[in-house]
Amino acid sequence: MEFTVEHGKLYMLQTRNGKRTAQAALKIACDLVDEGMRTEQEAVAMIDPRNLDTLLHPQFDAAALKAATPAGKGLGASPGAACGKIVFSAEEAEEWAAKGEKVVLVRLETSPEDITGMKAAQGILTVRGGMTSHAAVVARGMGTCCVSGCGDIAMDEENKRFTLAGKEYHEGDYISIDGTTGNIYDGRIPTVDATIAGEFGRVMAWADKYRTLKVRTNADTPRDAKKARELGAEGIGLCRTEHMFFEESRIAAFREMICSDTVEEREAALEKILPYQQSDFEQLYEALEGYPVTIRFLDPPLHEFVPTEEADIEKLAQAQGKTVEEIKNIIAGLHEFNPMMGHRGCRLAVTYPEIARMQTKAVICAAINVQKAHPDWKMKPEIMIPLICDVKELKYVKKIVVETADAEIAASGIALDYEVGTMIEIPRAALTADEIAKEADFFCFGTNDLTQMTFGFSRDDSGKFLSAYYDRKILENDPFAKLDQNGVGKLMEMSIKLGKPVNPKMHVGICGEHGGDPASVEFCHKIGLDYVSCSPFRVPIARLAAAQAAISN
Ligand code: PEP
Ligand code: MG
Repeated sequence: MEFTVEHGKLYMLQTRNGKRTAQAALKIACDLVDEGMRTEQEAVAMIDPRNLDTLLHPQFDAAALKAATPAGKGLGASPGAACGKIVFSAEEAEEWAAKGEKVVLVRLETSPEDITGMKAAQGILTVRGGMTSHAAVVARGMGTCCVSGCGDIAMDEENKRFTLAGKEYHEGDYISIDGTTGNIYDGRIPTVDATIAGEFGRVMAWADKYRTLKVRTNADTPRDAKKARELGAEGIGLCRTEHMFFEESRIAAFREMICSDTVEEREAALEKILPYQQSDFEQLYEALEGYPVTIRFLDPPLHEFVPTEEADIEKLAQAQGKTVEEIKNIIAGLHEFNPMMGHRGCRLAVTYPEIARMQTKAVICAAINVQKAHPDWKMKPEIMIPLICDVKELKYVKKIVVETADAEIAASGIALDYEVGTMIEIPRAALTADEIAKEADFFCFGTNDLTQMTFGFSRDDSGKFLSAYYDRKILENDPFAKLDQNGVGKLMEMSIKLGKPVNPKMHVGICGEHGGDPASVEFCHKIGLDYVSCSPFRVPIARLAAAQAAISN
């Protein structure tokens, strides 16, 4: 507070919020409650949920950061700070990390093939992409720092170099990136690890006491699922099954499935994949200890999985008994002009029902095994069909799921409940939610795609022009990070209003990236969602935001 006293009179000149670290904010809130100055609800409302990020991820050493000037800026796509040597491929990230090096993976963009390299890196920097493109979504899931969409980088991946702000960077040069601000720094800025103090647990317990919205997590590996449970997740709201196919041992069978000419060939490849899927799901259920798990069926366009390296193409040709030429023709045939609006989501199950059959078997047989191992848990797997735009699509896929699931359950000799629901991520699904609700046990809003398709903005490319929209005051925020309540939100509200009267038992959640954004969480509370689902490290943020929404409303 700034004040002055003149002629015996006190003048208050100005006040400003005292800056505090997240840890200090938690300590102050707890002390104020202990001293009887604030109620628990008031204490919960005092803390900015976004600041919790600093408690959960490494940060730059404050003194070293003061002396540094950013060399460039991208989108702060996954929080935390990272410092390491530049590498240009996922394989190198793995190799260097195995030698004990800290690395930052710099790519034009990442694809599902890069997952193991992304895991090995301290941080990820991409030239292209937005807040819901592959690098951003996967890095947030892993809790790894990521700066995406830095269009100022002139990339030369082939020669392992790039230019930024007039400087040429090579493999092995040090770089530091801040996934909260999006800043990129030349050289090394030391980082300090995250520490969670005792007050964190107290404030989180108060948040849980007052919130009504449940918080689930988006997780595809037992490791992420366990982390999310530690951070308070009450279930999995989205398991993206495609992320499970990229390990060395699995991708070969998956590629055989894609490059099959006949149903028999495809079924033979799927037979090889089934045990992996089933064991993955068993591990996920185990990690969740009986809490609900939503498993989404295969979603991305198949071209994302095909080999690009000559050696891999040859290997696949051999395994398939086909010529290299034939495999290349199949790959060329998978090319699409608009893959995000192409042969993906439930369209894969419509054209290749055998994929849905295999995934149903894996979900149900895994649940049967875990139910037998833990009779006290009430297993009820939730199968989620992506990219539905018409109730008849859902009916078609659901029939395959129900026939397969019921046969497996009957053969097992135990009783098992399961649910079949749908993502609402295409505007037409929202507009016809009353019809779709008749066939769905649950709705889950896929607001990444729903935002993409409502705005007509590509989630992977819009970063290129959105800054001009902020400068010209056409948009205030990135709609892929903060839910557009007026447009996308209206479609969500409409879906609930249309769907719930038809099927009052249906539960409703959100699993787009907005599920971990505090302002969006408040909106989800207001429109009556049952849960939000977000990446593991955003679970505490969502818990606090949900409590604040309940308290303020
Ligand atoms: C979504 O579209 O919001 C979603 C959760 O699915 P994905 O990001 O995998 O398309
Ligand atoms: Mg989607």
